[in-house]
Amino acid sequence: MDKKIITVTSPALPNLDDFTAELKNIWASGRITNNGSYHKRLEDALAEYLGVRYLSLFTNGTLPLITALQALRISGEVITTPYSFVATTHALRWNGIKPVFVDIDPADGNLDPGKIEAAITPKTTAIMPVHVYGNPCDTRKIQDIADCYGLKVIYDAAHAFGVKVRSESILNEGDLSTLSFHATKVFNTIEGGAMIMRDEKTKRHIDYLKNFGFANETTVVGPGINSKMDEMRAAYGLLNLRQIDETIEARRRVATKYREALINIEGITCFAEKPDVRCNYGYFPIFVDAEKYGMSRDDLYARMKSENVFGRRYFYPLISEFSTYRGLESAHAMNLPNAQKMANEVICLPLHHALSDDDIARVLNSIQK
Ligand SMILES: *Cc1c(COP(=O)(O)O)cnc(C)c1O
Repeated sequence: MDKKIITVTSPALPNLDDFTAELKNIWASGRITNNGSYHKRLEDALAEYLGVRYLSLFTNGTLPLITALQALRISGEVITTPYSFVATTHALRWNGIKPVFVDIDPADGNLDPGKIEAAITPKTTAIMPVHVYGNPCDTRKIQDIADCYGLKVIYDAAHAFGVKVRSESILNEGDLSTLSFHATKVFNTIEGGAMIMRDEKTKRHIDYLKNFGFANETTVVGPGINSKMDEMRAAYGLLNLRQIDETIEARRRVATKYREALINIEGITCFAEKPDVRCNYGYFPIFVDAEKYGMSRDDLYARMKSENVFGRRYFYPLISEFSTYRGLESAHAMNLPNAQKMANEVICLPLHHALSDDDIARVLNSIQK
């Protein structure tokens, strides 16, 4: 008999009866979208849970990126990381902005602040880093550079739900941050996302932009988009938020077991845990040193698959390798050696709330020689 497939992730779902009860309320109210009561409640509940002051819900995690660039009127060139999900760079392209790739720091996979300045030109207007895997960027160094050169900072924080550094939310850094609530993320609303901002005025402007730019019946403030979250997803999100701490704790348990076992495998490494960071355990990337491990990353990936253990090569290929971007000067492999190496060595292990001890053992067995 074939072994059960272990997927890289699996969404935490709310209790179906609870969700059905909420749907009955929505049906009774007749209000299904456009800033309804569930939408308002989810915004408030998320702001409180995350420890941020202002948050605006979106239909996914890509549109707040695109909208953030619009809202801040970013143009010209933006410095960003090639080591991310492709949506990060796509958001720049959708705004007619030229992405400028800068290499990453092998210690955390994030944009290397030490390499940003060399990439700044008179056309640079912003920096768009990613807290990849929820690893916090060096936000202080990035802000210092941004302040010095008069640049904006927009964080793609799609992986950083609930991540804190010294008890402070990482989402309060920079000018704006964005989240994704896609089914594959730590907190999901099926599809969904949010933008985090520092003041009420910005929130009001963003709320206009995500509703076609309408400020009132007769005023349109700019080329807005439609990215409003509906009442069903907001209700679903409220229920999922109730169990988020359990979800993260279940993930932590799996990650801890992986970490303990992997320490003994020659040629396999993972990121060090940082004592001042509250992680969300969204991903568990391992890095395969082919020579020391005695097998290439791709061979290990294939062997795991043959045992029905489905890891993912997040992030491979690099964004800078896709045909859309590889013509850019900054996409050249010689400019991005650390990102190249990480993309060629990484496998994200299955990590979600529903993995059993048996599942964890099977994942580890597939790696242990
Ligand atoms: C998931 C993700 C996005 C896109 O979010 P969607 O909700 O899928 O649109 C953007 N950036 C990063 C880094 C992501 O992982």
